[in-house]
Amino acid sequence: MISANAPLSGSYDYSEVARSVLIAIAASYAALDLTGRVTAASGRDRLPWLGGGATAMGIGIWAMHFKGMLALRLPVSVEYHWPTVLVSLFVAILASAVALYVASRQKMGPVEALTGGVIMSTGIAGMHYIGMAAMRLPAITRYSPLLVALSVFFAFIFSLVGLLLAFDLREETKWTVPRRLGSATVMGAAVSAMHYTGMAAASFMPASGPDLSHAVNISPIANSGIAIVTLIVIVAAVTTSSVDRRTSAEVQRFTQELERRVIERTEQLNEAQANLARVSRGLAMGELVASIAHEVNQPLSGVVMNGNFVLRQLARKMPNLEEVQQAVTEVVEDANRVSTVISRVRSLLKKAPPDKVELDINELVQEVSVLVRNETARNRVQVRLQLAAGLPRVPGDRVQLQQVLINLIMNAIDAMRTATDRTRYLDIMSAKHADGVVVRVQDSGIGLDPDRLERIFEPFYTTKPQGIGIGLSISRSIIESHGGRLWTEPASYGAIFQFTLPNQ
Ligand code: ADP
Repeated sequence: MISANAPLSGSYDYSEVARSVLIAIAASYAALDLTGRVTAASGRDRLPWLGGGATAMGIGIWAMHFKGMLALRLPVSVEYHWPTVLVSLFVAILASAVALYVASRQKMGPVEALTGGVIMSTGIAGMHYIGMAAMRLPAITRYSPLLVALSVFFAFIFSLVGLLLAFDLREETKWTVPRRLGSATVMGAAVSAMHYTGMAAASFMPASGPDLSHAVNISPIANSGIAIVTLIVIVAAVTTSSVDRRTSAEVQRFTQELERRVIERTEQLNEAQANLARVSRGLAMGELVASIAHEVNQPLSGVVMNGNFVLRQLARKMPNLEEVQQAVTEVVEDANRVSTVISRVRSLLKKAPPDKVELDINELVQEVSVLVRNETARNRVQVRLQLAAGLPRVPGDRVQLQQVLINLIMNAIDAMRTATDRTRYLDIMSAKHADGVVVRVQDSGIGLDPDRLERIFEPFYTTKPQGIGIGLSISRSIIESHGGRLWTEPASYGAIFQFTLPNQ
C-alpha cells in the first residue's frame, strides 16, 4: 500500500546488489591495472592510454552505481531521464581521468594525493547524485543530510585509498596481480559502501506523476546488457593493457639483450685488438732479433778485422805499436758496443715476465684463427678446426702460445702458397694427451724434406728467400718453457706440427 505521507518502501534485489559489487571490484581492478599501463606509457602513447583507461574505468564505476540504483525495487514504476544519465556517465569518466592522471605521475606527495582525492570523490559523489536525479518516478526524493555527508566522506576515503593503492601497485612485480586483486576487492567494497550509503540517504515521498520527457524504462534485458557491456569493456581494457605491457616488456627485454650483446661484442673486439697488438709486438720480435744481429754483427766484424791486424803486426819484427794500440782501442770500443746492445736486450726481456694463467686451449686456437682470418682468406686457405670437448685447462702464457700457433700457421700458409696444384687446407686439431693436451697443425703444402726434419728447429735455419729461420726455434723454446714438446711428424701430404702442453 502506498501512503501519501510515508515514504515509498523499497527493497533490494540482492542478486543485483551482488552483481553491482562484482562490477565495482572489476572496475577497481581495471583502475589499478590501467594506472600501471598509463605510468609505463610515455610521450604520444600516454594520452590514448589515459583517455581509453579513463573511459573503461568510468564506465565501470558508473555501471556499478547504475546497477545499484536498479537493484532498488520500489512499488512504483521508475524511469530514467537519459540525458542526465549520460551526464553522470561523463562525470564518472572525468573523475577516472583525474584519478589515473594523479596516480600515474612520477611522484605523488600528500598534496597531490589530497587534491586528487578531493577531485575524484567530488566526481564520484557528483556522478552518484546526478544519476539519482535522473530517476523519474511518482515521488519526490528527499535526502538525509547526515547520510549524504557520510556517503561523500566514504567517497573521499575510497578515492584517497584508491589513489594510494594504485600508485603503489603500478610497477609490475611477481606479486602484483594477487595484490591488485586483493586491493580491488577492498576498493570495490568501499565503492559499494559509498553507493549504498548514498542510496540510504534518499527517501521517496509519493507525489503526482513525473515528467517523462526523455525518460526511458530500463527493461531487465537492458539491465543485463549494461552489466555485460561493462564487463566486456573492463576485460577488453585490462587484456589490451596486459598484452600491450607484455609486448613492450618483450621489446624492452629484446632491446636490453641487444644492447648487452653489442657491449659484449665490443668488449670481445677490444680484447682481440689488444691481443693483436701484443701478438704483433711479439711478431716484431723477429725484426728486433734481426736488427740486434745486425748491430752485434758490425762491431764483431770490426773486432775480427782489428784482431787479425794486431796479429799480423805482432808477427812482424818491428810492429807498429802505435797502430796496434789504435786497433786494440777499437777492439775494446767494439766489444763495449756489443755489451751495451746485449744489456739493452736483457733489460728489454726483463720487462716482459711470462704471464701464466689457466688457459682453455680451444679458446686460444679460436682466437688465433680469428687473428689470422685475413691472412688465410687472402691466400684462399680453408681452415678446419677439430677441437675436442672437455679438455683440461693448461697453465700458459696466452701471448707466447698465440705466437707459437701464429708461427705454425704462417709457415703452413707459406708452404701452401708455394704449392699451386692443390686445395689449401689448414687443419687444426686439439685432443687429450697423456701429459695434458696436444695441438696438431697440418697443412696441404709442399711438405718437409725427411733429411731436414730436425734442422728446421735450429736457429737461423731457413729455406725461404726472405726467411729469418728463428720461428720454429723460438716456438720450440716457448713450448719447452711450458713443460711441453714441439715436434714434426711424417705426413702423407703437407706437413704436420704438434705440440703438447701439460695441465700441471
Ligand atoms: P722461417 O719461416 O723464417 O724460415 P722457421 O723457423 O719458422 O723460419 O722455419 C724454418 C724452416 O722450416 C722453413 O724455412 C721451412 O723450410 C721449414 N718449414 C716450417 N714450417 C713448414 C711447413 N709447414 N711446411 C714446409 N716447411 C716448413
